[in-house]
Amino acid sequence: MSRPEDSPWALAVGRIASRPGNSETVDTELPAPSGIGDQIVGVNEGDPVKVSGNFDSIVDGLIFTGRFTAPVHAECVRCLTPLRRDWGMDVTAFFPYDSAKVTAKSGSGRGKHDEEIDIIAGEDESEDTYPLSPDCGFADMENLMRDTLVENMPLQPLCKPDCKGLCSQCGLNLNENPDHHHDVIDNRFASLADFKAQLESEENPEQ
Ligand SMILES: [Zn+2]
Ligand SMILES: [Zn+2]
Repeated sequence: MSRPEDSPWALAVGRIASRPGNSETVDTELPAPSGIGDQIVGVNEGDPVKVSGNFDSIVDGLIFTGRFTAPVHAECVRCLTPLRRDWGMDVTAFFPYDSAKVTAKSGSGRGKHDEEIDIIAGEDESEDTYPLSPDCGFADMENLMRDTLVENMPLQPLCKPDCKGLCSQCGLNLNENPDHHHDVIDNRFASLADFKAQLESEENPEQ
C-alpha cells in the first residue's frame, strides 16, 4: 500500500493535528492527477492546480477552508472553440482524526465514518469529510479536489454568453462571420423548387 506522503496531494498537517486552536496556511500548486473530467471538459494531467487556504485544528479533527483554482480546458458547446480558463472553487472539508475518537466525542453524524466509508460518502453526501493518514500526519487533498472539481465543472461551456455557434449548413463560425448566409438553398430543396416551378408552369401554361 502506498504511503500517504508519497502523493504530492498529501499535505503535512502533523504540526497542528491534535492541537486544537492551531492553524496551518496552505498556498501551493500541485500537479493534477489523471482522470479529472474528460477530453471535452476537464483538467489535463500534470497541469498545476492552485490550493490556498487554512487548516484549522479543532477538538475532533481538522477543517480545511480554502480554494482550488484549476486550469479547466473545455470546448464551447455551440461553436466548438477550445477554451481554457482558471476555474476557482471555494471549499470547506472536515478531516476527522479517527472514527473511534470522533464517535466517543460527538456520538453523532460524523462518528459513523471510517476511512473507507468516507471515500464513498464524499461522493453522495453533502457533508464533505475526508480521511487523514493513520498517524494524522497528512491530509490527502486529492479526493477532495477531485470531488470539488467534478461537482463544479461547467456542463454547458460557452465561449461567450451570446455565442452564435456554427452555420448549420457549412460549419463556418458565425461569431467570426456575422454576415454569413447562404443564397443557394441546398440540393434537396433546390430540386423541390424545380419541381414546384415545373408544376406551376404546367398548371399555368400561358406563363
Ligand atoms: Zn462559442
Ligand atoms: Zn454556411
